[in-house]
Amino acid sequence: MMRFTVLGSGTSTGVPTVACECPTCTSSDSRDKRLRTSLLVQQATQTVLIDTSSDFRQQMLNNNVLEIDAVIYTHHHFDHIGGFDDLRPYAFRSGRPVELFAMSETSSVLRSTFPYAFGLVESTGASVPSVTLHEIDSEPFIAGGLQVTPIPMRHGRQLRVNGYRFGSVAYCTDTNHIPEASLELLQGLDVLIIDGLRWEPHPTHFTIPESLALIELIRPKQAYLTHIAHQVLHARDSLLLPPNVALAYDGLVIESD
Ligand SMILES: [Zn+2]
Ligand SMILES: [Zn+2]
Ligand SMILES: [Zn+2]
Repeated sequence: MMRFTVLGSGTSTGVPTVACECPTCTSSDSRDKRLRTSLLVQQATQTVLIDTSSDFRQQMLNNNVLEIDAVIYTHHHFDHIGGFDDLRPYAFRSGRPVELFAMSETSSVLRSTFPYAFGLVESTGASVPSVTLHEIDSEPFIAGGLQVTPIPMRHGRQLRVNGYRFGSVAYCTDTNHIPEASLELLQGLDVLIIDGLRWEPHPTHFTIPESLALIELIRPKQAYLTHIAHQVLHARDSLLLPPNVALAYDGLVIESD
């Protein structure tokens, strides 16, 4: 049994967005409160996290996460790496470095953004994040005891990002293009969690109509949209989706065999 928890379903600004008074940002529906995009994957005693979002600390507190066996990064945008420094207490608690898995571009941005954790500038000793960084590409790998299949995708015209598949569940955030070869890796899914920013076009994210078209093609049993912007009001916009598609929300738990 694998258990997936949506830690954050919000776009890079988070929802509510600061200095915004729109209907979603002022909504009292808890599903309209979206921390930055991240996913927790648990199997037996193993805990793997996808990305250390800008809201990482709050997400760990909200979900009472006591141990992290591995962090797998999708890409280097700040909303996905910003919480990195708050990995510190996990290494203090376990007495060993946190295992990180990231593509080469993501790895180099982690090193340049947090140089003190990689011995690249003078550090303050034990109070820096203790991590072991493993560079990955598109080959399957094992992280925190879990078998992981990368799903290579594009995010805007230039940037490479990885989605990830764990058994019959796949997580594909921050993308507006999934190449043919990657679509083949998404066959036979029970659950697909996929980028669905908003209804209006965007240069680096799938819109909801684009995601729905792709879901028709991939045919997972159930799909959830994530990385949702403040133009989307949960209760109102949920009514516009087909029966096998729903908007993700913070705290959503998905279980799979
Ligand atoms: Zn993002
Ligand atoms: Zn707003
Ligand atoms: Zn991004």
